[in-house]
Amino acid sequence: MKIILLGPPGAGKGTQAALLMGKYSIPQISTGDMLRAAVQAQSPMGIEAKKHMDAGGLVPDSVVIGIVRERLQEDDCRGGFILDGFPRTLPQADSLKQVLVDLDQELDSVISLQVDTDALVERLTGRRTCADCGKGCHLRFDPPAQDGSCRYCGGELVQRDDDREVTIRNRMKVYQEQTAPLEDYYREQGLLVTVDGMSDISVVQQAIQAALQDC
Ligand code: ADP
Ligand code: ADP
Ligand code: ZN
Repeated sequence: MKIILLGPPGAGKGTQAALLMGKYSIPQISTGDMLRAAVQAQSPMGIEAKKHMDAGGLVPDSVVIGIVRERLQEDDCRGGFILDGFPRTLPQADSLKQVLVDLDQELDSVISLQVDTDALVERLTGRRTCADCGKGCHLRFDPPAQDGSCRYCGGELVQRDDDREVTIRNRMKVYQEQTAPLEDYYREQGLLVTVDGMSDISVVQQAIQAALQDC
């Protein structure tokens, strides 16, 4: 299964990708996670990427495309993968197409999660990530343990620097301008499936799995 999860910041891409990974035993490829790891490691690429991420803008296409190209060549991607947060621009989508041709692979489906702007802001402001195991949660919708720690490992929960309201607004704008056009791009290729992302996490997961059965 080779899938793209498309949707604005906070739509639930990471949450749903993690569940799909468990269900289909294929890797989740999150460019956001890979970029944050590079920031943490303070590699030259991470230092460059951080400027864009902190402002809520996009990291240059060439950087992100390079990361994904390398990742898709790894052995664990042969049986399928879930792209989470990539592509985000038309040039990225065109490059992905070429990478997949080179690897003799084809996409099965592009799932676009539909969520209202108000709900997105609420999801992002309440999003927390475990500093130890990296799993995500939400203060209200997917709550931590009673003592406020990660319910999987007891680790400390942290808020992403870019999940503050001003940056969130900019990320929404960037999504509308640069990423939303990908819906038409994939619709024209007959790959787009829109899924209502407003329901509970498990209901959305069921809808995605139902959509994937048809492809
Ligand atoms: P979100 O939860 O908003 O979807 P991500 O974790 O996917 O966020 O991405 C966080 C940030 O990393 C983005 O705001 C952007 O700066 C950068 N980023 C992630 N993926 C890409 C990409 N495909 N192209 C450019 N920048 C990216
Ligand atoms: P994205 O990767 O698209 O930015 P996430 O998967 O990180 O989005 O979800 C953003 C926040 O919203 C997280 O805190 C997550 O726990 C929460 N969340 C995800 N899906 C739902 C849902 N269906 N209903 C309520 N909250 C959700
Ligand atoms: Zn944890």
